[in-house]
Amino acid sequence: MNEKPVLVTQSSMPPIEEYIEEIRGVFDSKWLTNNGEKHQLLESLLRDYLKVPELSLFANGHLALYIALEAFGFPEGGEVITTPYSFASTTHAIVQSGLKPVFCDIEMENYTIDASKIEELITDKTVAIVPVHVYGHICDVEEIEEVAKRHKLKVIYDAAHAFGVEYKGIGVGSFGDASMFSFHATKVYNTIEGGGLAYRDFALRKKVELLKNFGITSPENVESVGMNAKMNEFSAAMGICNLRHIDDEIAKRKLVYNRYMERLSGIEGIKISNLQENVKPNYAYFPIVFDKDTFGKNRDQVFDELERCGILARKYFYPLISEYECYIGQFDVSRTPNAKYVSDNVLTLPMYADLSLETVDGICNIIKTR
Ligand SMILES: *Cc1c(COP(=O)(O)O)cnc(C)c1O
Repeated sequence: MNEKPVLVTQSSMPPIEEYIEEIRGVFDSKWLTNNGEKHQLLESLLRDYLKVPELSLFANGHLALYIALEAFGFPEGGEVITTPYSFASTTHAIVQSGLKPVFCDIEMENYTIDASKIEELITDKTVAIVPVHVYGHICDVEEIEEVAKRHKLKVIYDAAHAFGVEYKGIGVGSFGDASMFSFHATKVYNTIEGGGLAYRDFALRKKVELLKNFGITSPENVESVGMNAKMNEFSAAMGICNLRHIDDEIAKRKLVYNRYMERLSGIEGIKISNLQENVKPNYAYFPIVFDKDTFGKNRDQVFDELERCGILARKYFYPLISEYECYIGQFDVSRTPNAKYVSDNVLTLPMYADLSLETVDGICNIIKTR
């Protein structure tokens, strides 16, 4: 059908002239990183765009999440309730900061953590909840906040998929104690590689900024043990350019989304999540979940058929984090049956701003042919 393979995503990039203009100043100043001019500008632009009280920029989203967990100073071995239905980063950050992940199942409409099942997992060792706004679908932020308050737990969201998403007009990064955004090349908005941590408490800023720059407070003073997680000027410049086009990009994604909906909704055996009420979406992904008994083909068959036609969909998220080789034997997957089911039957279809509607039609025809 297509000469070139269609990938599941394609990075958004500004016109090359725009980027060259943006980095001209960096060549003049020769200031390439360490809280440079572009970094400072992007941080303030993104704080406004994301409608969050505080924001720190990072080299990538994973380091932002890891440093958030470090910044709260949880006791070693503390338990963190999270979801196995996510990207590797979420659980890895918890493990890398010396904490113990405890997996909660997901709900079946948006595939986010099932907030009604969090409380039964809380023990006297629980220190935090790390939910994920999967596919940009927001978690039940209100119920999560209530549970967290009742048990005095911190809430740190993995909002890697949720750039620009709002709930009742509030930036999604304003919920919980902190939220991590990823600006990776494959996300709705990118700085090539990059990430952001949004948080409420201004007092956290000093800690976060120290942790991301080796704990250095001045040329002759190192106050704490830290690492290097700073965003460089070329990434920040890409971010400044991409931010000028983000609303158009999301509008184009919406057209792709609508076309998929037209072609695929109402088909027996294909489940598509509905848009959420009171949510401004970002159309980050287009996941569909197959019911092999009623649809007639299973996920892997559809994946293979698409691949033969040069369409590279993605089994995202498969396998579950709790089934990874590095975690094998540590978690009982049967305790998160919804997550297991979705992981075994989900396919995310190609979704990006410049995906043509004809290609979308072609993809849908392949899926529907039985
Ligand atoms: C992309 C992603 C991350 C990690 O972000 P990076 O910027 O690639 O480090 C974390 N969690 C989820 C759910 C992601 O999709």
